[in-house]
Amino acid sequence: MNQAVHLTNLNGAELSALVESLGEPAYRGRQLFGALYRRRLRSFEEMTDLPKSFRAELAERATASTLTLESRYISEDGTRRYLMKTHDGLPVETVFIPEERRDTICFSSQSGCPLQCDFCLTAKLGLLRTLTAGEIVEQVVFALNDAYGVGIKTPRGTNLVAMGAGEPFLAFESLMRALRIMADPAGLYIVPNRVTVSTAGVVPRIRELAAVPDRPHLAISLAAPTDEQRDVLMPINKKWPLAELLAACKEFELSLKPGERFTFEYVMLDGVNDSDEHARALANLLNRHQLRAKVNLIPHNPADPLPYRPTPPAQVERFKNLLEAKGIQTHVRRPRGRDIYAACGQLAARRPVTNPQEQILHQLS
Ligand code: SAH
Repeated sequence: MNQAVHLTNLNGAELSALVESLGEPAYRGRQLFGALYRRRLRSFEEMTDLPKSFRAELAERATASTLTLESRYISEDGTRRYLMKTHDGLPVETVFIPEERRDTICFSSQSGCPLQCDFCLTAKLGLLRTLTAGEIVEQVVFALNDAYGVGIKTPRGTNLVAMGAGEPFLAFESLMRALRIMADPAGLYIVPNRVTVSTAGVVPRIRELAAVPDRPHLAISLAAPTDEQRDVLMPINKKWPLAELLAACKEFELSLKPGERFTFEYVMLDGVNDSDEHARALANLLNRHQLRAKVNLIPHNPADPLPYRPTPPAQVERFKNLLEAKGIQTHVRRPRGRDIYAACGQLAARRPVTNPQEQILHQLS
C-alpha cells in the first residue's frame, strides 16, 4: 500500500499517462480525473462508470485518497474544522468557512510547522512533515463533500486560503502542483485568482512567485513594525529582516494586476504590538516603501499556553483609524470558529471536549 501511487498527486496529463501505461484508452484517464474532482469520489468502488476490471487493476497499484477523518467540529458560527490523518498517521487540519456570497476553505501545507512564531499554537507542534500536493487537494475535496454532499455542485464560489498549519512557501512545490490540479476546468476548477497564499516571509519564494504567470494572490504576516520586535514574535525575521522582506514585496508589486493589492496580516496582541505608536510605525514602514498594500488586522485568537490576549475592540478600531489616516486601506478580520480551535493560529490538532471542566486537550501523536 505504501508503494501505491497516490492519484491525487497527479495532474490530468500524468493521470492519462498512467492509465495508458495500464493499456487503457486515453479517455479513461479523463474519466478518472472527472471521477476524482468533478464527482469528488474518494474510492474506486464508487467509480461505477469505470469497468470493474479496470478498477480492480487501479486498486492494486494506486489509491484514490489517502487522508482519513479523525474528527469534525462545527462552530456556532457555521465554521467547520476537520482533523484528518495522513497515511503515516500525522495530523492535517482544514477549515471550511461559509460566508454569504462565497465559501472559503483554509487548507494546511504542512503537518505542524517549523517556524516558531510566538503567538501561534501550530508552532508548538514543530514540523512533522511537509504535505504532498495530493494531501492538499484532498483537503479541499473533503471539505466540499462534507459541506454539500459528494459531488454536489457548490452553490457559491469557493475561495482558498493557504493559511492553515504550516508555511506554504516551505511547501512550495506541493503547493504549486496542488494549485494547478485544482485549477483544471475538468475538475474542481478553482482558479489561482481565487486563491491567497500567506507567508511568514520566505523572501526567495516571494520573488519566485512573482514570476509565475498564473499565480495566486499573496499575503504576508507582519505582526510587528520593527525588526527588534519582529525578531521576537516571528524568529524568521532574523533570517529575512523587514528591509529585505519589503524589498521583495516591492519587486512582487510589479506583478500585480490593475486593482490587485497584496495583503499584510497583522495579529493584534494586547499591550504588545497594538499601541498608537505601533500603528504609526507600521503606516510609516509601508508608506516608506510605497507599497500598494492593504492591512488585515487579526485580533489574537487565544489558546493555552499562548501568553497573549486579543487587543480590545476599541483599540483595534483606533489602530485601524490611525492606519487609514495615513492612507492605508485596513480591514479588521472577524474571528471565525474560535470556539472549536479553528481560527487563525489555533490549529494544533486539538480536540475540544464538551465538558469545560475537562480542559485537557489531547494531541495526536
Ligand atoms: N505560515 C504562514 C501561513 C499561516 S497563516 C504565515 O505565517 O503567513 C496564519 C495567519 O494567522 C498568519 O497571518 C499568522 O500571523 C496569524 N496567526 C497566527 N497565530 C495567531 C493567533 N493566535 N491569533 C490570530 N492570528 C494568528
